[in-house]
Amino acid sequence: MSIKDEFAFIKMIKPKKSHSQHLITGIGDDAALIRPMGEMDQIICMDTMVEGIHFTRDTMSPFDIGYKAVAVNISDIAAMGGKPLYYLVSIAVPKKWSQDELIAIYDGMKELSDTYKIDLIGGDTVSSPDTLMITVTVMGQVQRDKQLLRSNARVGDVVFVTGTIGDSAAGLELLLDKSRHHSFQAIEEQLVRRHQHPSPRVEIGHSLSLFDRVSLNDISDGLASETNEIAESSKVNLVIDEAKIPLSAALLHYNKSRALEWALYGGEDFELIGTMAPKDWEQFHNINQMSGILVTVIGYVQEGNGEVFLLKNEDIIPLKKKGYNHFK
Ligand code: ADP
Ligand code: MG
Repeated sequence: MSIKDEFAFIKMIKPKKSHSQHLITGIGDDAALIRPMGEMDQIICMDTMVEGIHFTRDTMSPFDIGYKAVAVNISDIAAMGGKPLYYLVSIAVPKKWSQDELIAIYDGMKELSDTYKIDLIGGDTVSSPDTLMITVTVMGQVQRDKQLLRSNARVGDVVFVTGTIGDSAAGLELLLDKSRHHSFQAIEEQLVRRHQHPSPRVEIGHSLSLFDRVSLNDISDGLASETNEIAESSKVNLVIDEAKIPLSAALLHYNKSRALEWALYGGEDFELIGTMAPKDWEQFHNINQMSGILVTVIGYVQEGNGEVFLLKNEDIIPLKKKGYNHFK
């Protein structure tokens, strides 16, 4: 491992102060110690990023790798309607990664600690033969009985999606083709940044938790995959109108003919997709308009056995789960 002194390294990445008053002990003892808050349900999730599978040195800077490893987990907390509070990091380090690069990874994580006031409370450091692996666990909380489960969709609901989708997959293609050291044009740079530096939708997730019943998923694997997960869990069918899928101006300008393919199958946009009762839509829409957030109705829920259909011009075609591995 490139880390000569593990204790010195941990000292360097240890936060100087904590945000939460409920944290009794973070880094420095055998385990973190937290005094739970009453009346809230706890949320815990974990995601791993592996060099060569989820990123390479050519697609992501160390700072962005750290940022994204935490951001994708925060996105899962957002998709449950929760607020993130704490995180832990396990890092497996091969020799070829320098200590400075590892510190930069933690700097990227710290950007999210500062934005969301969440605390790094522990982790583990081990060596790895060839590739860098980072596993992040995030803990959060949501008000009791306000969780936004995938199984919450009901017949008659509207299907909505936040922001625009497809940019991240297009950005990744650019990065694989030209590497992050290329000087991209402004429009390409926008797509690349959405791949490297996604924004988890914590505020929208939280505002959705105030409604009675919402189903929700974050878009890690593309619209086709995420809509199928909601349809399967809720045992209903989703109908998506292709013409309503929100695509960014940058994406349409970059490659209009492939934009939909990226939106449906690309993934890693970390926007939110969900369903809610039509009676709640107007209020939700108004909240978003006031805060300047784009949320679009792209379809509806009907009776069925857990399938998704795409309205394409006059046709209606099955929309199957399909992702592709960009690195292979
Ligand atoms: P132990 O031998 O008790 O597991 P470690 O030496 O592994 O202790 O860890 C010491 C402290 O540093 C613990 O609080 C642990 O959670 C924290 N820690 C270790 N590695 C990391 C890391 N990569 N990121 C964040 N915290 C870490
Ligand atoms: Mg340990």
